This record gives sequence, structure tokens and C-alpha cells, in this order.
Amino acid sequence: MSKTIIEENVRMETLTTYKLKGIVKKVIYPLNEKSLIKIINELKSKNEKFIILGNGSNIIFKDEYYAGTIIKLTKINNLKINKNIITVDAGYSLIKLCHKAKENNLSGLEELSGIPATIGGAIYQNASAYNKSISQLIEELTVLKDNKIVKLKKEELKFGYRKSIFKKNKNYIILSAKLKLAYDNKTNIEQKMKEFHKKRLEKQPYNYPSAGSVFKNPKNNYAGKIIEEQGLKGMSVGGAYVSEKHANFIVNKQSCAGKDIISLIKIIKQKVKKETNINLKLEQEIIK
Ligand SMILES: Cc1cc2nc3c(=O)[nH]c(=O)nc-3n(C[C@H](O)[C@H](O)[C@H](O)COP(=O)(O)OP(=O)(O)OC[C@H]3O[C@@H](n4cnc5c(N)ncnc54)[C@H](O)[C@@H]3O)c2cc1C
Repeated sequence: MSKTIIEENVRMETLTTYKLKGIVKKVIYPLNEKSLIKIINELKSKNEKFIILGNGSNIIFKDEYYAGTIIKLTKINNLKINKNIITVDAGYSLIKLCHKAKENNLSGLEELSGIPATIGGAIYQNASAYNKSISQLIEELTVLKDNKIVKLKKEELKFGYRKSIFKKNKNYIILSAKLKLAYDNKTNIEQKMKEFHKKRLEKQPYNYPSAGSVFKNPKNNYAGKIIEEQGLKGMSVGGAYVSEKHANFIVNKQSCAGKDIISLIKIIKQKVKKETNINLKLEQEIIK
């Protein structure tokens, strides 16, 4: 039987799409739900700090040393397809899922096919693109809550724009999701995926590491437009830069640390508040 993987002194570069400078004390990869529960119980009993991570595509470590444990769910990644219902584990890659769905003539995920998330991370954040959010496809979730495995219906999950019950209550861990897709043919699905991919490449910076949009869009407005109008494109702290291509992206050009990104975020927020009275809200998450 395979054993849980444990790594020590892991470079943050390998754990974050920002490719941050820094070290994490310990990373544990549970291989199934049973080992996940065991690991959590052990860490809690020792009063050790830990967080759950998917692909690290929406996070910033505040310091260059994280003195806790990361429980990375990417090895819990089974997938079952029954007609147009997909049951998928939290650690499965969203991009890979989009391709699997296409191979099975199942449509609904095309808009999301460029998001480098795990299923768990996407649901936590209610990831969305081009007017499609992951929550629109969810039928039911299996979650770990206070050490018990429970099923939750979509109505209980309180989804909104970058909102879910999981952001409010850190006691839940998403284990798997049941998604309902529609039938279409592979060629149509592939065509749609290509179009969305092209749109992304046109608008967003892919030549440097990032974690997608930094701020949420305020109602009836765009964070990128607001930041660009303040002349902040190209501004930098350390190796972190406001992207020249899309002002709501910060890119890591020269091996920056989380603190550089956080300082840049502060500068953007203050300038925007002072000049426009708009309070930009962070979409990415700072890990302390
Ligand atoms: C190039 C690029 C493009 C992007 N485009 C988009 C986009 O179009 N739309 C969009 O919405 N986002 C986008 N993002 C941001 C990011 O991919 C999403 O926010 C994604 O949902 C994060 O998933 P993750 O698995 O990487 O989560 P992580 O960054 O690993 O974790 C984020 C949060 O989710 C929690 N979490 C993760 N898994 C679980 C779980 N199983 N149970 C409970 N909590 C969990 C973590 O504790 C953490 O608080 C983009 C990012 C990049 C780098």
C-alpha cells in the first residue's frame, strides 16, 4: 500500500503559481480521505498550524518562511463519469477535467478551461470566467466537516461572485463534487475551448508567473480599468510588477517574495481609494 508523502523545507516556488521566494516547513500529500482525517487529527492534537492547498494558484505567503504544514490535496484525484454526471475528487486538476469532459462529449466547462485550479480550490473560490462559474455545474458536494464526511446540496453552499460557504467557514474541507454537464460533440467543445483560450492569451499576461486577478471587480466596473486609469501599470516593488498587459494582474518578474506583492497591493489600494474613493477588495488570499 502506498504511504502518505511528507516533504520538509519545500520551496514556495514549487507550491505557488506566483513562484514565490521562500520556504514552507512541511508539506503533506494525503493519498485518500482516511489519511487526510488522520493527518488533521494529528496536527490538531499537537496544536500545529496547517492549511489546505490545491494548486496554489490564488495565494500569497506573507513571509518567506511558513512555519506550519501545508496539506496538499493533489494526490486525492479520482474521477468517475456516468452518462453526463462527473464525480471528481477535490485534488483533480480543473484543466485536466475540461479535457476529460471534452473527450466524453460533455459540455459546460469550456469557459473554465484556462483556470489552473484544483476542483477543491475552484469550488472554494467559486471560480468563474466568461459568465460561467463552477457553481452552475454543481449538483452535490462531499465535504469533511468537524471530522465527519457529509453531503451538501448546492442550495446550502451560498455561492456568489467569488463567494462560497467555505470562505466563511474554514472547518469545511471539500472532498469531492458531483457535476452535471450537457451533451455536445467533441469538435464543438474543442472549438469553444480554443476560442476562450485565445481570448485569455490576448488579454492576460502569460509570460510571467501570477495568480490571476488580484482584486475583485467592483459592481458594474473593472478593477483592471480602474488601476490602469491611475497610471499604475508597470509599477514595481522588489521583483513584483503591475502587469503592462492587464493592470489587475501582478506578475513575478524577478524572483519576488510574498511581501513584495503585498506591498504593491497596498500601494494600489491606497492610490485607488485616494483618487476614486473605491475600496478595491482582494481576490487572492494572503497566508499568514
Ligand atoms: C493564469 C491564471 C489565470 C486565472 N484565471 C482565473 C479565472 O479566470 N477565474 C477565476 O476565478 N480564477 C482564476 N485564477 C485564480 C485561481 O486559479 C482560482 O482562484 C482557483 O480557484 C484556485 O484554485 P487552487 O486549487 O489553486 O486553490 P489554492 O490557491 O491552492 O487555494 C485557494 C484557497 O482555497 C482553499 N482550498 C483549496 N482546496 C480546498 C478544499 N479542497 N477544501 C477547502 N478549501 C480548499 C485553500 O485553503 C485556500 O484558502 C487564475 C489564476 C492564474 C494563475
